[in-house]
Amino acid sequence: MRIGIYPGSFDPITIGHLDIIRRSAKQVDKLIIGVLNNSKKTPVFTSEERKKMIEEATKDIVNVSVECFDGLLVNFAKLKNANIIFRGLRAVSDFEYELQIAQLNRSLNDKVDTFFLATSVEYAYLSSSSVREIARYKGDISSMVPAEVLEMVEEKFESIYNG
Ligand code: ADP
Repeated sequence: MRIGIYPGSFDPITIGHLDIIRRSAKQVDKLIIGVLNNSKKTPVFTSEERKKMIEEATKDIVNVSVECFDGLLVNFAKLKNANIIFRGLRAVSDFEYELQIAQLNRSLNDKVDTFFLATSVEYAYLSSSSVREIARYKGDISSMVPAEVLEMVEEKFESIYNG
């Protein structure tokens, strides 16, 4: 059984992430989306909110499940018996960081390999941080996040900036 993990912050999930999820899910029997509780970043959405949004957006993909994790990715992979980590590459600027992490992870656990998927060109400019920035100033994010989560994202920013 091939088990893959697609880790990330997903703060919030974008249609760029969803594209990588759909393509990764085709390559494995089971895909676990790992929502990172990152101690270095202060996310806008709690990990439970991020998990819920991903579940909503992926409910039609049968072999996908969503779990929160913290600590080392390779330990989470081991716990889940996963042998593939999927990451998306948007631009050369992603590459240097991603290569280093992939090599580091492999040195920690050589049973896990990282597979990179090149972003679909139409999503290359998309990032969670730009979605947050646009939503904060009430810009239109409807073409950037999955339809199922649009309301949740807008409500969150409404509650943060309008009390
Ligand atoms: P992290 O904080 O770990 O970078 P993100 O949620 O920002 O988490 O991204 C998770 C993964 O999704 C990363 O591999 C990132 O390169 C990839 N990714 C983010 N946005 C896109 C996009 N628009 N197209 C393809 N991959 C993307």
